[in-house]
Amino acid sequence: MNVHEYQAKEVLARFGVPVPPGEVAETPEQAREIAERLGGKVVVKAQVHAGGRGKAGGVKLADGPAEAEEKARQILGMTLVTPQTGPQGKLVRKVYVTKAVDIEHEYYLSVLVDRANACLTIMASAEGGVEIEKVAAESPEKIVRLSVSPVAGFSPYLARRIGFSLGLAPDQVKQFTKLLGGIVRCFTETDASLVEINPMIRTPGGEIIALDAKISFDDNALFRHPDIAEMRDIHEEDPLEVEAGEAGLNYIRLDGTVGCMVNGAGLAMATMDIIDQHGARPANFLDVGGGASKESVTAAFRILLRDPDVKAILVNIFGGIVRCDRVAEGIIAAAKDVEIGVPLVVRLQGTNHEEARKMLEASGLSLIVAEELDEAARKVVEAAKGGAR
Ligand code: GDP
Ligand code: MN
Repeated sequence: MNVHEYQAKEVLARFGVPVPPGEVAETPEQAREIAERLGGKVVVKAQVHAGGRGKAGGVKLADGPAEAEEKARQILGMTLVTPQTGPQGKLVRKVYVTKAVDIEHEYYLSVLVDRANACLTIMASAEGGVEIEKVAAESPEKIVRLSVSPVAGFSPYLARRIGFSLGLAPDQVKQFTKLLGGIVRCFTETDASLVEINPMIRTPGGEIIALDAKISFDDNALFRHPDIAEMRDIHEEDPLEVEAGEAGLNYIRLDGTVGCMVNGAGLAMATMDIIDQHGARPANFLDVGGGASKESVTAAFRILLRDPDVKAILVNIFGGIVRCDRVAEGIIAAAKDVEIGVPLVVRLQGTNHEEARKMLEASGLSLIVAEELDEAARKVVEAAKGGAR
């Protein structure tokens, strides 16, 4: 789960990470009031779950309360399009008003899970800020990486090594050591999967501050952190994925034309691969789970059909624990509830598949039955290419 910058900074502040003071606003008037409380220059920042806001016009400096109100009016309600939002962009519903700080230098700092080495990795660069993607692509040697051993844990000398390699002065290294220690503790104690500070800055007075913050939390550990779970903002998530989650389906929207309904994550991956091999792209990953009941099949059809890019659907179920005749029953019942306006290819294999096939044939539904996976993929790709909607 991702959170907004203002929430990430609130969590980081609990671990002693220095961040500029600020408050979140939903109206231009609130932004003015916050700017009055903060005093002096402020920054008005669009709160969406995406980076690259600055370049897209979502981060603006303001001289005082009146200008803060004006900038908030410009940013609130805008659809921000950045390389991280996709072409449809994200609607801005909140702005974060923070005290502006003077920047002498921008650094990049992140902590993430290194799956290959089964440990945490710290990444840092003296060339942080809005061009970090360019640095990563063109001069990756300018990014320092250091692993944190899960046995030894984090120790200040790691931070000192990184701090000196960033070119920080001894006094700043001291501050950096405290900041990084706080971030690593935050990472571990909140079950985060990523903490990214870009930029971490040095002020002309030599202070080291986190100016931007992004945290991703591990969904599977949220039950241990009710305060963080509460920070979820479903406006920032794909509505179809939210609905699927509520129906107990494991659904991820993709950009192809073939809707897939499969039981089991492994089979779902194989199904997506074979669709690709036959020359079309899957519109989604969807694991209806081991149960594949009438309810889950109906919910799955509803969700698949709400995606206007879906031109044909492939149902690929292996009856291991679930019986194919139960699934066929589910499909027949679902087809009565939901109007399936696209070609439907069904492949049911495993327990009671013959019975299931007879049921589908007798149902009078217009569907294309397939025995083998290869055949099913060929048929659905053909249907998706020919099928106008
Ligand atoms: P992002 O574009 O979504 O990553 O948003 P950031 O929070 O990183 O802000 C983008 C850029 O705006 C930063 O890299 C800074 O250069 C600038 N910026 C943000 N806050 C301040 C501030 O308080 N003072 C100054 N001078 N610049 C700021
Ligand atoms: Mn940033």
